[in-house]
Amino acid sequence: MKPVRLATIWLSGCSGCHMSLLNMHQELLEILAQCNLVYSPLMDSKEYPYGVDIALVEGAVANEDNREMARIIRQRTGTVISLGDCAVNGNVSALRNPVGLAATVGRSYGETGWMPELNRLEARVLPLHQVIRVDAFLPGCPPDSALIRQEIFERLKLT
Ligand code: SF4
Repeated sequence: MKPVRLATIWLSGCSGCHMSLLNMHQELLEILAQCNLVYSPLMDSKEYPYGVDIALVEGAVANEDNREMARIIRQRTGTVISLGDCAVNGNVSALRNPVGLAATVGRSYGETGWMPELNRLEARVLPLHQVIRVDAFLPGCPPDSALIRQEIFERLKLT
């Protein structure tokens, strides 16, 4: 049987969801025995590959790069899973929404300002499912390791 092609992605989040993923410790080895990890911030991956079976996506969509990455993930992935509250509902990453983009940038960068030519910020931070179709949601800040484990084990039919 062909190994499942697994990816994990970090959009606008704090990496805490990936820490929770790593917190599975030795159970990660059981998962990796059934999968090829083909893209992740945990490895030196440059380009999101085609033919990914399962993608765990941490973080909200807060800028142009996030939006483009979300589009590519959806196009190249069978099952997209929102990992954690920032992906599920915006959470901490969306705290700037009520304040407004201009006020947030002004407070954060002062006279220097933001350089939109580097990465244009979205007017509002959005949860992933408002940008692309999402197949499953793992809520929590961060989501509990047991929840992540259950979701992956069920999809890999390891339970
Ligand atoms: S859900 Fe919580 S732990 Fe995960 S990226 Fe957002 S703030 Fe960090």
